[in-house]
Amino acid sequence: MRRPSIAIVGGGIGGLAAALHLRRVGIEATVYEQSAELREVGAGLVVPPNMVRPLQQLGLQEALAQVAVRLEAAWEFRRWRDGRVLFVQPMGEACRQLYGTDCYVVHRGDLLKVLEQALPASQLRLDHRCTGVQQDADGVTLRFTRNNGMVVEVRCDAAIGADGIHSVMRKAVAPEEEARFSGLAAFRCLVPAEAAPAMALRPVHTLWLGPQRHFVHYPISAGRLVNVVAIVPAGEWRQESWTASGTIADLRAEFDGWDARVLQLIESATDTKRWALVDRSPLPRWSVGRLSLLGDAAHAMLPFFAQGAAQAVEDAQALAHVLQGADPHALPQALQRYEALRHPRASQVQLMSRGREIRNHLPDGPAQQQRDAEFAHGDPLRQSAWLYGDDHERSLFGTGNVSQ
Ligand SMILES: Cc1cc2nc3c(=O)[nH]c(=O)nc-3n(C[C@H](O)[C@H](O)[C@H](O)COP(=O)(O)OP(=O)(O)OC[C@H]3O[C@@H](n4cnc5c(N)ncnc54)[C@H](O)[C@@H]3O)c2cc1C
Repeated sequence: MRRPSIAIVGGGIGGLAAALHLRRVGIEATVYEQSAELREVGAGLVVPPNMVRPLQQLGLQEALAQVAVRLEAAWEFRRWRDGRVLFVQPMGEACRQLYGTDCYVVHRGDLLKVLEQALPASQLRLDHRCTGVQQDADGVTLRFTRNNGMVVEVRCDAAIGADGIHSVMRKAVAPEEEARFSGLAAFRCLVPAEAAPAMALRPVHTLWLGPQRHFVHYPISAGRLVNVVAIVPAGEWRQESWTASGTIADLRAEFDGWDARVLQLIESATDTKRWALVDRSPLPRWSVGRLSLLGDAAHAMLPFFAQGAAQAVEDAQALAHVLQGADPHALPQALQRYEALRHPRASQVQLMSRGREIRNHLPDGPAQQQRDAEFAHGDPLRQSAWLYGDDHERSLFGTGNVSQ
């Protein structure tokens, strides 16, 4: 039996991880990415234990550790006006004991580079923007447009859409979903470590909570940069783009009256991106015949649980599991299995990311005081066992330690 030919549209974290997981099980998929080069676009990402384990399975934990920052504490919640610590969750040893691995924070570009370097160049086609997809009983024909206008057609046994939030492939798989504007926008900056206040250099995922907004920071790029994300009311801002620019003055104005260290961090930044946060409901399906979706194309989510990239990498691992040894004629059934394995969990995470801002953004008053009192009894690391732990891997792959 010949091995199936698989095309992956999109060379983001999900697409590259899928190619690497498929390679691990003996399938050389080709990734088609619209950009002419994989540049360091974007900012910080959390790499939680449920993402570290599938990367470990690819033999990439060492490379990740070199470019990332290992978190010693997470969810250090602070009060907006005076910085009082409301709650802090130690990670380090506690995380290793519970989930067998650490939790990291990384620059998206650094992680992309780690993945790209692990993939043979022959499996990555840059400057290939997917502009058409058609399937029949025997396979899929993809059309790509190059920057010079040239059109290239590719035939394969199955195609995976890993083409992100504005996915072209999604249109061929699922009915167009109505996206809901959340009313919020995110500012995001990268501050050089030497300009940032000392407290922002600690290996801690810190969240300052205040009325109608919150402010997050952690160091990335082996400590050379501090990643800043500020979630605020969107006002008139409607652009849902990772690369749209905002202004530091607008960001500063959002945090008038906040603790001086927050303001100092904002003022250390030289530029900022700003994007509107749009919420999407789970898709009714991810797979049709020989086409399927993965990552943000399948389950774009609000960023409040920092799980977008982790869920994409979980998808990649599950895809390889179902395609391992698959007969090219039986790919539609295998892709249905992939969807059945992944859709419930990814949808749960997608839905859970909703409404979180209400609790984070309470105005000062009795509800906020009650929330702050409850923090003292919280144990988010243990409560997140269903998300960070390996129970789902046991049930999907029949093993408790996928890195073996
Ligand atoms: C430019 C950019 C910056 C980001 N910055 C951050 C950040 O700062 N913080 C954060 O938490 N998350 C960020 N993300 C999102 C985060 O990387 C994803 O949520 C997560 O990693 C899921 O990855 P994905 O591979 O499913 O999608 P994505 O990371 O969005 O990757 C999709 C890929 O598909 C490519 N693509 C799109 N359309 C086509 C097409 N028609 N043909 C071929 N290729 C196509 C895109 O160029 C991209 O490389 C960013 C994403 C992008 C694209």
